[in-house]
Amino acid sequence: MRRPSTIAIDGPAASGKSTVGCLLAERLGYLYFDTGVMYRAVTWAALGRGIAIEDEAAVTALARQLKIEVMRPTVDDGRQYTVLADGQDVTWDLRRPEVDRSVSPVSAYPGVRAALTIQQRRIGRKGRVVMVGRDIGTVVLPNADLKIYLDATVEERVERRYREVVSRGEPADYERVRDSVRRRDQIDSSRPLAPLRAAPDAVVIDTTPLSVEQVLERVLALVDGR
Ligand code: C5P
Repeated sequence: MRRPSTIAIDGPAASGKSTVGCLLAERLGYLYFDTGVMYRAVTWAALGRGIAIEDEAAVTALARQLKIEVMRPTVDDGRQYTVLADGQDVTWDLRRPEVDRSVSPVSAYPGVRAALTIQQRRIGRKGRVVMVGRDIGTVVLPNADLKIYLDATVEERVERRYREVVSRGEPADYERVRDSVRRRDQIDSSRPLAPLRAAPDAVVIDTTPLSVEQVLERVLALVDGR
């Protein structure tokens, strides 16, 4: 059996997509591409340029013209990749709470999705890629060779996100993290266009009781057709 070349991983915030996706890509020698950073980069640029998040036309125009580059890490500081927005290294800025707060409204704009989806498909078409997001199996790469949907209870995901913020040495407020994860879940799954959803042909894995290694092992078994 031929190994899947395009692998789509979707799921809600803090379901383990990025961690597992990155490890999987490393194992397979594939490109790891986290589409969430593109929505985050547009959001960060809008905030930095004083564009109101509610101004759909201005945010959409920004998404069309912003040059987003994702590359191998250029600094050895624990990052999975380096993200440049119009040439500026914004890798860690994309994780700031103000981006968390505004990214879901930004990514609900159809024009923003259209602009970013085109770029994601271009990358996906080349194959040998693990692409991670919310709508990869349903919209971006509906013909992906393997589709995985990672899920976990909201309590578990909030706990994971909280630990992640603490491990970065940033001030963390449990309640704020919980509200932010819940709010993003709600907006991402209820938007009319490309809502967060498992594709009908996706393999759903509930990661709540599993360690990263256990999830990776299950995914590798699927890749190898075991
Ligand atoms: O995966 P991450 O949490 O970094 O994604 C940030 C936000 O970007 C999500 O909450 C969602 O609103 C949006 N997103 C999306 N479609 C994708 C990836 C991310 O709408 N494929």
